[in-house]
Amino acid sequence: MSHVVKVDSLQWLNTLSWRNNPVRVVSLCFFVVLVFSTLLAWREVVVLEEAYISSQRNSLENVANKMDAQLQANLDGLKFYRNGMQAALQTPLAFSGLRGAAEAFMQRRQQPQWSVALDNRRTLPVYGVSDDFIAQSALLSRDNPRLSNELTATLEVGYLLRLSTSVRRVAQRVLYVSRAGFFLTNPSITDPKDTIEQYYALVTSPWFTSQTQRNNPGRGFRWQPHAPDSNVQSVAVSLPVDYDHYWYGVLAMEFSLPQIKRYLVVASEGEEEGEYRLYDRRMNQITSLLTDGVIATSLTDPDKAQIAHAFEHDTRGGLRLDTRYISWQKLQNFDGVLIRVHHLQEGLRGEYGSISMALGVLWILFTSMLILAWVVIHRMVNNMTALQKSLQWQAWYDGLTRLFNRGTLFERANTAMKSCREQQKPIAVIQMDLDCFKSINDRFGHQAGDRVLAHTAGLISSRIGSADLAGRVGGEEFCIVLPGATKEAACLTAERIRERINSRELLLGKGVMLRISASFGVSGSDESGQYDVEFLQSVADKRLYQAKQDGRNRVCCSEPPPAE
Ligand code: GH3
Ligand code: MG
Ligand code: MG
Repeated sequence: MSHVVKVDSLQWLNTLSWRNNPVRVVSLCFFVVLVFSTLLAWREVVVLEEAYISSQRNSLENVANKMDAQLQANLDGLKFYRNGMQAALQTPLAFSGLRGAAEAFMQRRQQPQWSVALDNRRTLPVYGVSDDFIAQSALLSRDNPRLSNELTATLEVGYLLRLSTSVRRVAQRVLYVSRAGFFLTNPSITDPKDTIEQYYALVTSPWFTSQTQRNNPGRGFRWQPHAPDSNVQSVAVSLPVDYDHYWYGVLAMEFSLPQIKRYLVVASEGEEEGEYRLYDRRMNQITSLLTDGVIATSLTDPDKAQIAHAFEHDTRGGLRLDTRYISWQKLQNFDGVLIRVHHLQEGLRGEYGSISMALGVLWILFTSMLILAWVVIHRMVNNMTALQKSLQWQAWYDGLTRLFNRGTLFERANTAMKSCREQQKPIAVIQMDLDCFKSINDRFGHQAGDRVLAHTAGLISSRIGSADLAGRVGGEEFCIVLPGATKEAACLTAERIRERINSRELLLGKGVMLRISASFGVSGSDESGQYDVEFLQSVADKRLYQAKQDGRNRVCCSEPPPAE
């Protein structure tokens, strides 16, 4: 088995060897270089792509963090108001003004709509509805043990809200809506006559109803998604106010869409590329922002579905949509996702784009140079191979007769002798010389003589087997080596050749027909037991001389018996 493998691998090496198939070896080398250079370029592209993606994500993360920080400040504000209310529910401030307000509430609670305010104008007024209104809804109740504490706590929050207005850090609208039939809002309502409608609208709004114990068992923040079909151009976040296992009401912040956009503008300061979009968790767009020179594109519903599907499983990521790269990240302080759309045109203008293009141009240049070099070297190697073959042929063959030249014939004959001796097979040599060839030259010219030589060589080739060797060993002398043939068989072959040469006249020129002849001397290893080319040839040569002596155009296979 291992032997077979060894042989196979040797054969394989042989097919690749420079001497056997240089063109294939050259092509293989170029192909390997091309494959490696392409792999290298591809690897660079992958690294660049990874760097590009992480730069996209970093930019988005930067903006998302700043956005989160701004929203965090608002959420912290809501928590601060809730903690303030809880503290005030437990221990209200012992101010006479607050006590007076609580008494005023007790007096007015039966009225359809009422308001209570401290007279110093530094707090916000509290608006409320009647006991009868409260009785109509199971969600609302005034049966809480700290009812007057809740009212004074609301007024305290009103004080804090006024303060925060002065530093302009509040969202568009902050509210406290109590289950006990009153509410506080900053900015304050413009027409107190609408109190009932306003209170009704507030306690039926999704951010209020979503804060029941059952709907929000975790008691944390709840975002009310933006409703694109409604007229309300805002999003709201709410936080329940509980104390001692009782749900008092809901603190809420409403952000107008322009306000959210302002946050995004602040967050994306310093970013020079890309388009930012904020979506809620249902993929309704809340706001979007274009950096300079970027044209907005629309995300189709299938695009949005793809992004929504992606962020179901992860908090951040990216995907390629046509010629855009979309990176997305969920915000921590908002129930939605921030998206950065980066266009191909921007990408090409950027540093990654220019590096990629330079890399592409380099690869194209390198590859075309490589192909050019391959074509040139391929041609050169082809020419060299052809030249080598032609030189080899000239070294082995005689150009006029296309038979082996003297040197090659004896070299091959030696090999054949050895092999016949080893196999104990006979081998025979025929020595042949054209008769009166000089006179053909003299009479018809040298060219005619050449034609006779070529013609004769053709006849010899057609009369011998594929294993036999024939060569031109002198001017008009030929030698034929017949491996495996006895002297007898060689004599018959010589006789056939002689007959064929002499059988037809040869057309040498215009109307010049000539019958030529040749003389043959034959020797064989079977008569002497000798397997030596020179010996067998010299014997055949002597017999050829004898044939000439005997009158030419004949085959001589043995020496004449000695004269007595
Ligand atoms: P014989 O029958 O005794 O062999 O007579 P011959 O004329 O054939 O013998 P000789 O050796 O006197 O003449 C050989 C001639 O062959 C002499 C030479 O001009 C001619 N010759 C040798 N090589 C070539 C060749 O390549 N082309 C031509 N045309 N003639 C050649
Ligand atoms: Mg001759
Ligand atoms: Mg001769």
